[in-house]
Amino acid sequence: MLNIVIFGAPGSGKGTQSARIVEKYGINHISTGDVLRAEIKKGTELGQIAKSYIDQGQLLPDELIINILASTLDSFKDSKGVIFDGFPRTIAQAEALKAMLAERGQQVSIMLDLDVPEDELMTRLIKRGQESGRADDNEETIKKRLVVYHSQTSPLIDWYKNEGQYQHINGLGTMEGIFAEIAEAIDKI
Ligand code: AMP
Repeated sequence: MLNIVIFGAPGSGKGTQSARIVEKYGINHISTGDVLRAEIKKGTELGQIAKSYIDQGQLLPDELIINILASTLDSFKDSKGVIFDGFPRTIAQAEALKAMLAERGQQVSIMLDLDVPEDELMTRLIKRGQESGRADDNEETIKKRLVVYHSQTSPLIDWYKNEGQYQHINGLGTMEGIFAEIAEAIDKI
């Protein structure tokens, strides 16, 4: 089983690189952000709750997002592995993921940290907001999301270093160049 956590600040390229990993390694993809945006689109109760957090650039409560992740994981049959994109975002989520995988006799194979300087993140997200119209890609919300990343999510770097699963990836450069570094790291597992 190839279980990959793709990690990085908003705008670091997690979604783009996940698509390439899925294509090359044939594993399932869970993006918690995509799941929540789909719920908003469908107009469900969960979608309404999610929207109130996303619009403020805040994280959803751990318990809620962990339950969403568990049910998505259960929906995969005969899986060769999973890429976790946008999850975990807190230490509590990382611990829940570890426990969930352990229950299935599995573990995280590697955590890929896409490292991109802050000014570049800002430029990319503002551009994405203009092109895709994603509601939380506006300057005010992006700033809040980056604060949340630094306070609640970046402690996971040390957490995964402790687990021996951490892999730094230079997230600056061409999409192909970044993917080559990722593939080299995965192939070494
Ligand atoms: P993303 O598409 O991964 O950037 O996620 C967009 C937004 O969805 C985030 O800013 C959060 O409000 C929410 N979200 C996505 N994943 C999580 C998570 N693992 N924990 C809490 N909130 C999340």
